[in-house]
Amino acid sequence: MQVYKICCDLFLQFIITCSETVPDTTAQRGSIKEDLTGQRFGRLLVKRPAENQRGRTCWVCRCDCGNELGVSEAGLIHGNYKSCGCLKAEIRQNIKNQLHRIDDTCVEWLEKRKHRSNNTSGFRRVYLNHGKFRASIGFKKKRFYIGTYNTFEEAVQARLEAEKLIHDGFVKAYYTWQEQGDDTPFIFEVEKVDGWFRIHTNI
Ligand SMILES: [Zn+2]
Repeated sequence: MQVYKICCDLFLQFIITCSETVPDTTAQRGSIKEDLTGQRFGRLLVKRPAENQRGRTCWVCRCDCGNELGVSEAGLIHGNYKSCGCLKAEIRQNIKNQLHRIDDTCVEWLEKRKHRSNNTSGFRRVYLNHGKFRASIGFKKKRFYIGTYNTFEEAVQARLEAEKLIHDGFVKAYYTWQEQGDDTPFIFEVEKVDGWFRIHTNI
């Protein structure tokens, strides 16, 4: 995979400087397996063959956003390239917006709060209700009921455990996803089934 990426980076530069070059026809290109012209790979529509780069078959593609770029055939077929880069940028922007909605705060704030976890005074989302203590947790604009407890301390403990699972889990998964740096969308959903929190994630 690394090889293809290097090839495509080089090829991208090549396209920008020599965009008027009309490459050989498909028949003359020894390494080609099939004509990909007109085929779609995510947002990339294959327009025409391009000159081989370092012995690798390459194609001129137009992205739905209007950018034209060169991509190696292997990069297209193996799914490494699904846009000119605009898809990745959009996903990141979506995540940014999502982050600011967790419990009406942002991921950086959640991280900072970890260091204050032992402080049980003034805990949010633990309410006295008919002589008992009710705990809940917010995630992506939704509020999940955790449970009702006889003592404040029990409710706080339950809330801390839910934070560890949901908030800390989200932060951890988010950073892992960032490091992967591919076009895969980031999925981290929470649901409550039979009184238990269940996390759906692709990280
Ligand atoms: Zn694009």
